[in-house]
Amino acid sequence: APTLLWIRRDLRTTDHDALEAAVARGGPVIPVVIRDKSVTDLGAAPALRLELGLEAFARRLEEKGARLILRTGKALEVLQDLIAETGAEAVFWHRLYDPHAVDRDRKVKAALNDDGIEARSFAGHLLFEPWEVETGQGGYYKVYSPFWRAVRDRDLPTTLTAPAEIPAPDSWPESEALADWNLSAPMRRGRDVVAGHVEAGEDAAQTQLGGFIRDRIEGYKAGRDVPASGATSDLSQYLTLGEVSPRQCWHAGRRAMEDGKAGAETFLKEVVWREFAYHLMYNAPQILDRNWREEWDGFAWREEEDDRVLAWKQGRTGVDFVDAAMRELYVTGRMHNRARMIVASYLTKHMLVHWRIGQKWFEDCLVDWDPASNAMGWQWVAGSGPDAAPYFRIFNPDTQAEKFDRDQAYRRRWLAEGQGNPGEDALSFFDAAPRSWGLSPEDARPKPLVDLKAGRERALAAYKDLKDDA
Ligand code: FAD
Repeated sequence: APTLLWIRRDLRTTDHDALEAAVARGGPVIPVVIRDKSVTDLGAAPALRLELGLEAFARRLEEKGARLILRTGKALEVLQDLIAETGAEAVFWHRLYDPHAVDRDRKVKAALNDDGIEARSFAGHLLFEPWEVETGQGGYYKVYSPFWRAVRDRDLPTTLTAPAEIPAPDSWPESEALADWNLSAPMRRGRDVVAGHVEAGEDAAQTQLGGFIRDRIEGYKAGRDVPASGATSDLSQYLTLGEVSPRQCWHAGRRAMEDGKAGAETFLKEVVWREFAYHLMYNAPQILDRNWREEWDGFAWREEEDDRVLAWKQGRTGVDFVDAAMRELYVTGRMHNRARMIVASYLTKHMLVHWRIGQKWFEDCLVDWDPASNAMGWQWVAGSGPDAAPYFRIFNPDTQAEKFDRDQAYRRRWLAEGQGNPGEDALSFFDAAPRSWGLSPEDARPKPLVDLKAGRERALAAYKDLKDDA
């Protein structure tokens, strides 16, 4: 009898435990993607990225003799319908860890088991299951370094194989058409702007990982903080949709380390930051929408979507490094990590705007959007999270720019205003921006929204108020 393979954020065939187990079980395998709330709630760029990923994944499955079945509805009902239509006796999937998915999957598993169906979930989105890493006292880690020390020497399975063929049923159940899902419709700047900067799919992920390990990992430690250097792996958008497995990244990094390549350990540590984000989200899901440190509830953050917030989104704050980064985000769906920290610090400290506003904008704009890493990143910068940057350490974006964009390559690449001869990327922002924003590359550079020194002092005063009230 067939096995339904419920595909979620695992758009790959290599190192896919649920697929492997489905093939090993014998009988046909029917891969299915369900458009439930977890898909319809996605921000514009993550939804577009999912569409691109699903296109590539469907092609990959076809090469292996399978098809991707698309259905809309509540997960359990869709699965039960498909079971009735195909006579499937098992449903396999990879686990996810956000509270909505955990709750949904638990209910689905229990109901399917009650129906006499073999419902099994597998590990594959992470290196370590969040409950498999515990402190000596038996709780979860709230600080990164001991988390890293607890996991860095662990062994992980190394058979990173893919089935050559996926056994097909005699007849395939009906599928909706991906085009009808219109996943890119919420993308107001049109599908092609961001899509033009994306190479989706398992092959692209493998190329990215291979190229990074071969050519760039040695310069990673020195170059990873320089946004214009292209020194980082750019793997995050593949990891978030599971087009590459974290295990494969881990093993590639470990081998590079054994080969004596500088930068390899730093890379592994970054991959483990992703694990840490999941560890936190699973064990303390309030990190997604509430100040992780409750005392921050009394902080004087503004939470209105006013003109100043709009100027931040548009890259019109008058601080060049911040504005360049916001333009990069809008046009490519990506932003360098150093730049993420700077724009987040500027918003939450110099502008005194709540981190949730920034988190939401990133959720709408990032092709690598990940609930755990995004929430942790924002709360880390804002100072309200576990193991956060101390609030009083306020990035000065101009000093940061001098340090990490010394030759101005990043700012020149993304800012047109005030430049004699702006390049293609800088100009592409104006084609993408909605007309209602009324922006033109001929505009003068905006005046600073906040004086950096005064903004810093105001932020420190607000912090002092919080401490005094505590
Ligand atoms: P590399 O430097 O090559 O790192 C390798 C991998 O390690 C990354 O692909 C990523 O999976 C992981 N990683 C690296 N740094 C971090 C980190 N600080 N936290 C968690 N994982 C990390 N990352 C996301 O994947 N999705 C998000 O939505 C996201 N939102 C963020 C929001 C803020 C405010 C901040 C400060 C950081 C955020 N990050 C997020 C983390 C980080 O910026 C990106 O993972 C990184 O820029 C991706 O580029 P890369 O793949 O070239 O990274």
